[in-house]
Amino acid sequence: MPDFKHLATIVGAENYFDDEAHLNAYCYDATRERYKPSCVVFPRSESDISQILKYCNEHKIPITPRGAGSGFTGGALPKEAGVILALEKHLNKILEIDKKNMIARVQPAVVNKHLQNAVESEGLFYPPDPASQDYSTIGGNVSENAGGMRAAKYGITRDFVMALRAVLPNGEIIRAGKKTIKDVAGYNTMGILIASEGTLAVITEITLKLLSKPKLKQSALGIFDSINSAMEAVYQTMSSGVTPVAMEFLDNLSIKAVEEKYKKGLPVEAGAILITEVDGNLPSEIDYQLEQIERIFRENSCKEFKVAKNAKEAEDIWFARRNVSQCINIYGSKKLNEDITVPRASLPDLLAKISEIAKKYNVVVPCFGHTGDGNVHTNVMIDGENAAQLEIGHKAITEIFKATIELGGTLSGEHGIGLSKAPFMNLAFSKAEMELFRSIKRAFDPNNILNPGKMGL
Ligand SMILES: Cc1cc2nc3c(=O)[nH]c(=O)nc-3n(C[C@H](O)[C@H](O)[C@H](O)COP(=O)(O)OP(=O)(O)OC[C@H]3O[C@@H](n4cnc5c(N)ncnc54)[C@H](O)[C@@H]3O)c2cc1C
Repeated sequence: MPDFKHLATIVGAENYFDDEAHLNAYCYDATRERYKPSCVVFPRSESDISQILKYCNEHKIPITPRGAGSGFTGGALPKEAGVILALEKHLNKILEIDKKNMIARVQPAVVNKHLQNAVESEGLFYPPDPASQDYSTIGGNVSENAGGMRAAKYGITRDFVMALRAVLPNGEIIRAGKKTIKDVAGYNTMGILIASEGTLAVITEITLKLLSKPKLKQSALGIFDSINSAMEAVYQTMSSGVTPVAMEFLDNLSIKAVEEKYKKGLPVEAGAILITEVDGNLPSEIDYQLEQIERIFRENSCKEFKVAKNAKEAEDIWFARRNVSQCINIYGSKKLNEDITVPRASLPDLLAKISEIAKKYNVVVPCFGHTGDGNVHTNVMIDGENAAQLEIGHKAITEIFKATIELGGTLSGEHGIGLSKAPFMNLAFSKAEMELFRSIKRAFDPNNILNPGKMGL
């Protein structure tokens, strides 16, 4: 039996817990699955993390890093019990905002929104804005390569990471990447650590690229009779020379769900709505972008195009998108939700295929998401108490994954693999590719102590 209490000698008794309350508080994430750890430790520093990992490695104790626990695929769940390495208590500081180099250096448990607010007060801008931005941490964002509404124009977390510090399972501390814009020396260790879901190393410091904050932004909404024409409008807009910050969609089922719950006067007969935002520094830039988008939307049978004239109208335009996720439960007590992603021009084919699969299995599948980057949140709605429905739901999801892969897409655009999607990895990767992943895992973590049982490894 491992001596978990030894960890208290590293972090101090006040940062070590094995009581029921703590084990229960750290046994779940946004998947609502539960796996109880053996203990929870709150490291105070990188040096604590190094000593904890060294001890766990020597005694082959599983250890799972945890940011805010907002992950949708079970990444922070201690599948094989062991230690929860909870970073949120002490490692939550912004270490530096370097205005001259437009860079921020942060500890891993800085909350995304706190960083955004801090850099914006200096006239700078950190674009990745997952919907969980009020609580998810930068360490969690890097470990899942989180995306957000602004990804259509600015990209995802990966596009802003310049350097990392991390602790390997044997306790060694490494640096990956540099503050420099260019760096081609050595293998791209940083690239391997991004989206590694806490399976290779514990990230202890992150250096992020910042941009200048655009002075102006404006939102608009397009209403379409058919989802197909909305999807055509998306990729035509994105390749038109105008790059909207966001290009989000709700299908008919999603629109109806929000309307049923909130009675906002949404167009319940529409096949789809597209919600978009543009930004820039000059009013003429904003006007030009909106004119182009309106033209392309109307060429694709958009029957109404509304531009928000003030902050209140912008809020109203975004309301449906921000609230849709919790509204679709009108269709079933459990949603099997996936964040599949395809090359943008394949969106019409993907959505047609999902509709076919929904009919075949007689399930309701509302879809919404980040069409600007080809990322669809697809939700197979079932009665969670009904085992037969659960089985049907899983069959439908498997077919949706297969269709996505056939269209050149991926199992996950932003939520990662974790536990939830591990069974599907063999649909997306060949034996040789999976073996390469396993050999990378062995190179970092030969004793398989770090977040074992994840990513199908
Ligand atoms: C309502 C809601 C909306 C969401 N919207 C979005 C969205 O728009 N876009 C999006 O991408 N995601 C979204 N998510 C999913 C989730 O918020 C992201 O995956 C986020 O990046 C997780 O951050 P976290 O701090 O909660 O990490 P956790 O859930 O605690 O951990 C996630 C993974 O990262 C690992 N990890 C955490 N910190 C470290 C570290 N320092 N070193 C090594 N490994 C580490 C963990 O072991 C785990 O595998 C949403 C979740 C919710 C609940």
